Amino acid sequence: MNTSWPKRWLVKNRLSLTNPVDSASRGGDATKRSRGSREVLSIKHRICQRTKINVMGELQELINELVRFRNARDWKQFHKPKDLSAAIAIEAGELQELFLWKGDAEAAQVDRERVAEELADIFAFALLLAEHYDFDVKDIILKKMAQNGEKYPVEKAKGNAKKYDQL
Ligand SMILES: [Mg+2]
Repeated sequence: MNTSWPKRWLVKNRLSLTNPVDSASRGGDATKRSRGSREVLSIKHRICQRTKINVMGELQELINELVRFRNARDWKQFHKPKDLSAAIAIEAGELQELFLWKGDAEAAQVDRERVAEELADIFAFALLLAEHYDFDVKDIILKKMAQNGEKYPVEKAKGNAKKYDQL
């Protein structure tokens, strides 16, 4: 069993864990930070405060498990980005199929186990794609949230499903 990854992960992420504000504000004047960035900064700070390293450590462990499962079957050769991308879309289609042609009442009775299975397939392929590009999953999600915070400020977007360019 590989026990060295938590230490490597801790060293790699030490700055953002010990000082999330400094880490997240690198590259920009704090006074010029946008509302969306500040909102995400706050979220990031709360995540670091509440979860410490455990959640991200468990996520990395999960990715390691997926890679071990994949490599034991010599499937890496099939896991090119285009195939993983397609697999995510196909599994999303399988998830949608569970609800297809059903009215609200029938859709509410959907088999939760089947939803969990398809969701697990989507997460698994998404994590494998993130692993391929060596993305830090937390960082790419928070970065996208910052972008979405810019596009959808609360005062304009609250209770509104319009696209950002129509707000
Ligand atoms: Mg499936």
